[in-house]
Amino acid sequence: MEVDFLKQAAQEMKPWLSRTRRDFHMHPELGNKEFRTSRIIQDSLSEFGIDFQTYEDSTAVVGLICGAHEGKTVAIRADMDALPIQEENEVPYRSLTPGVMHACGHDAHTAVLLGTACLFSQYREQLHGNIRLLFQPAEETTGGAEKMVTAGCMKNPDTDYVIGLHVSSHPAGTIEIRKGAVYGASDQIDIRVLGKQAHGAHPDTGVDAIAISAQVVTALQNLVSRKISPVDSAVFTIGKILGGAQRNIIADEVQMEATLRTLYPETRIFAKEQITKIAKGVSAALGGRAEVDIRESYHSLFNTDRVVDVVRGAAAELVGKENLLEDPFPSLGVEDFSYFLDAAPGAFYCLGTTNPSKEITWPAHSSRFDIDEDCLPTGVLLHILTALRLLNGEAEET
Ligand SMILES: [Zn+2]
Ligand SMILES: [Zn+2]
Repeated sequence: MEVDFLKQAAQEMKPWLSRTRRDFHMHPELGNKEFRTSRIIQDSLSEFGIDFQTYEDSTAVVGLICGAHEGKTVAIRADMDALPIQEENEVPYRSLTPGVMHACGHDAHTAVLLGTACLFSQYREQLHGNIRLLFQPAEETTGGAEKMVTAGCMKNPDTDYVIGLHVSSHPAGTIEIRKGAVYGASDQIDIRVLGKQAHGAHPDTGVDAIAISAQVVTALQNLVSRKISPVDSAVFTIGKILGGAQRNIIADEVQMEATLRTLYPETRIFAKEQITKIAKGVSAALGGRAEVDIRESYHSLFNTDRVVDVVRGAAAELVGKENLLEDPFPSLGVEDFSYFLDAAPGAFYCLGTTNPSKEITWPAHSSRFDIDEDCLPTGVLLHILTALRLLNGEAEET
């Protein structure tokens, strides 16, 4: 497939890409409830003549474009879910569903992957290998990626590489990608500090869970500042604290809700051990007791370096080296694309979509978030050029 020809085809597709993205934007659906979105994807794939499969009790759709010639299989992922946010943009395509909004750009990811599917479906005869299309539910909530991988979405045929993109706060016309660690791991932590109720005038007859909690909160601040290397990275945030009954009663219980974010698996294990040790140790030393409940959420996302090199090659061809960016640091945000990367080497890249000249500057997860739709054809081309290079063996280990 000629690059110039593809560029022209993607540009000609722009009105369709905008229409498709706006349709998803006007009808946002929360995680695991992407019923309409899933149906439109299935109808579109049928229209393009692409075989797909679905799973029981899931809105996921997995398409497979088999090339006329043997070769590798490259999977491309788009997440489909929206957020519980009331849109405040005054645009003709604003959300029609009260309290729900595509404020993370997943409408654009889905439209871009459909555009990619449409173009690839026209070139099966020239394709050496297969393109797998992963339309994923619930990135923002319950981890749709892990469930799809468990259900076998990366197999039959085995996926050799997996790629995906996210719209980003970088300027429109740029592409950002970094090697190694990209996003952190997340754990949800609940701490209950337990004391003994007593009259507020006689604290010596009880155990004050509020006073103990103050010490626990302070001691936990030592975790990141004193127990984890300054050149590693972690963040521990207690976002909610609740306790006590009345001003003149010694509180017998305080509940805290916290999030832990780490990059490296060994730091994650260490931090969780330390949080438990500190909460229990400080509480016990002051005569109380602590219970710590930790629920694992997404794990870290690490790009495969040799696939990043391939994406950079494709991106430079597309937008020029000067528009190819690399963030100096990873983010401690999370992204469940990491589960696809457990199953195959690959890379996750960012498509710049902000544009101050069009007043598109609000960050993701805000009620005024929007994207510069001129970037949609760039997203399609980036997927296609990267996938073609991967099928061509450019990321092979030497
Ligand atoms: Zn998001
Ligand atoms: Zn997102």
